[in-house]
Amino acid sequence: MRYPFATIAPLLAHMTAREVAEHVDVSADAVRAWRLRGGSISEENADRLATALHIHPAEIWEDWQADVKRTCEHCAEPYVPGKPWQRFCGAPCRFAAYKGTRRPRQAAALRAKYQTDADARAAMRARSAEYQARYREQLNAAERRRYQANAERERERRRARYWADPEKYREAERLRRARRQETA
Ligand SMILES: [Zn+2]
Repeated sequence: MRYPFATIAPLLAHMTAREVAEHVDVSADAVRAWRLRGGSISEENADRLATALHIHPAEIWEDWQADVKRTCEHCAEPYVPGKPWQRFCGAPCRFAAYKGTRRPRQAAALRAKYQTDADARAAMRARSAEYQARYREQLNAAERRRYQANAERERERRRARYWADPEKYREAERLRRARRQETA
């Protein structure tokens, strides 16, 4: 961020170019050039000149940015950035945010590999088919177990009916068999 010299120029009017130059890392000639043509000065120089006048730079430049707080992109806490490109309040948040983006990034890399690398694609398909076969097998086994459990429950019910009244059960069975023969 740079700031227009013209804004502070009137406040420095009582100083010679050499006196102004003593406060900043430029020559007296550069200060004379600022006074003639205006131009912008660095944040550091703006801060030094304001400090020389015992004024906070924000009181001179309305858009002074140095103390402006940013919101951390990870924890959403406000912080004062040390560097203009800073995105996180500190190293822990930077690492945490990186960890969060690693998974999508890996997925994108894998997708790119699938689309461009035929060997990798074949290997991925084989792995996928193997996984699906194993999954189907598990489904079938679960289905078989459910069927066996049902059959076992049905046998239980019949045994219970038989022992409740064996004669009645046998009579019912005879009738059922006769009906089946009639319809056959
Ligand atoms: Zn943070």
